[in-house]
Amino acid sequence: MTDQIIIEAPKSDPLPLIFDSPHSGARYPDDFDHVLDRALLRRSEDAFIDELYDHVPDQGATLLHALFPRCYIDPNRGLLDIDPAMIDGGWPGESTPSFKLDNGVGLIWRQVKTYGRIYDRLLSQQEVQSRIDCCWQPYHSALSGLFEHFHAKHGFIYHVDCHSMPEWGDETTEDGVTRRADFVLGDRDGTTCEKGFSELIAKTLRDEGYSVLFNEPYKGVELVQRYSDPAANRYSIQIEINRVLYMDEDKITRNERFDALKQSLRKMTQVIADYVSERVV
Ligand SMILES: [Zn+2]
Repeated sequence: MTDQIIIEAPKSDPLPLIFDSPHSGARYPDDFDHVLDRALLRRSEDAFIDELYDHVPDQGATLLHALFPRCYIDPNRGLLDIDPAMIDGGWPGESTPSFKLDNGVGLIWRQVKTYGRIYDRLLSQQEVQSRIDCCWQPYHSALSGLFEHFHAKHGFIYHVDCHSMPEWGDETTEDGVTRRADFVLGDRDGTTCEKGFSELIAKTLRDEGYSVLFNEPYKGVELVQRYSDPAANRYSIQIEINRVLYMDEDKITRNERFDALKQSLRKMTQVIADYVSERVV
């Protein structure tokens, strides 16, 4: 455990079920040294997602969440998603081009949407490495440790990667200027999760009156890809919630729909916990 992540243990019999919230962190480190206005920088947060899922330890699940902001370093990116042009002297390690990197949202973000650049300087190799060591690595060590612990004990593990998305896409996102569904479930086109589990989540949400799409526009990124392996009974799914369902995106405050959404999520996570519980022998 470091001061950059929190693991909330189950309050009842632990199930092989992990929820993680990698993007709700809002503790901005003193050494961030950004020029973009903090209010605009905060648009990158999946604000309140840790709070919307804070009941899951009561249902037997473990909740992991980051305290650092994702625009400082993004745990939902791989260590190769790094832009050498942002770093003084380049990056001594490997990097691979990607859509996310081209749009300034790799491991270390270059910009937030179209609001402007985060830095007016190059970052040092040392500060990038320090962000990896202090934030990215502890997050991944914690998640990987939880996977191993529960998989060793039960022979299977379910992981729900929890996010939120702006109501509208824009020119920096895969979907362009489009209004999003209420929920988008990402299983990388059926490769990271068990179909019955994904469909159960979709049905529960639709029964609550929400629109649900699979993999459009978000398929899931590093966190569902890195640890899942359905052939070995390791299942990961990403859930994106449309922010209009619970917050004012400009003010970053809860809106009048927050409590109703929280109630629906509580139902959904109970259905998930029951499903996992039935598989435990
Ligand atoms: Zn997110």
